[in-house]
Amino acid sequence: MRIAAILLAAGSGRRLGADLPKAFCLVRGRTLLEYAHERFATHPSIQDVIVVAPPDRVDAAKALTGSTVVAGGATRQASVFAGLAAVDADVDTVLVHDVARAFAPAAVVDRVVAALRAGADAVIPARPVTDTIKQVDDARRVVHTVDRSTLVCAQTPQGFRRAVLVAAHRAASKAEITDDAGLVEAYGAAVVVVDGAAESFKITNPWDLVLAEAVAAR
Ligand code: C5P
Repeated sequence: MRIAAILLAAGSGRRLGADLPKAFCLVRGRTLLEYAHERFATHPSIQDVIVVAPPDRVDAAKALTGSTVVAGGATRQASVFAGLAAVDADVDTVLVHDVARAFAPAAVVDRVVAALRAGADAVIPARPVTDTIKQVDDARRVVHTVDRSTLVCAQTPQGFRRAVLVAAHRAASKAEITDDAGLVEAYGAAVVVVDGAAESFKITNPWDLVLAEAVAAR
């Protein structure tokens, strides 16, 4: 297998309340992009790294990482598609990772790659749901308590046979799907689940930066 990692860094960071794109926010003096990039660039199973950056930060991302950088799109899905277009012809396996999950450990990459090597077309790392999940109506009344034992929280990196991911993206409807496995499911391919990790939490809200500071200090 020849594996490329696509690192998604083209989001705005609006929910973080930052005045710069989230991937360029600093945690203990380093950008989230640098934390995420070093994990993938140094991983022995990964041959290529492609960073998808905001169009006006392509040069900045290149300076920070030294990797191939392409401009992202208006949605996460468009950014993945832009990254896929930059993958070398001889790459047969692609990992897609949210730079917002800047501290995803190498062990999770190992588990995703192992499942791909074992023959899976698509693999996601996931964690158990710990909160009780309620379905509510428009008036915010509880309609139903969902059985959480059958639910997991999907993380990244998600791994795919390149041909399957490309076909799923080409077949995708306009409806925005928030991860790549969702596209592959809609396309009809099986998605295998491996254990994720607590450190792979997604930095979304200001509170997540408090945890990020603590993780970066370890
Ligand atoms: O916004 P959210 O945190 O869900 O984004 C998940 C990941 O997708 C982030 O790493 C973000 O940088 C990336 N993204 C992107 N292009 C977009 C939107 C999000 O690369 N247009």
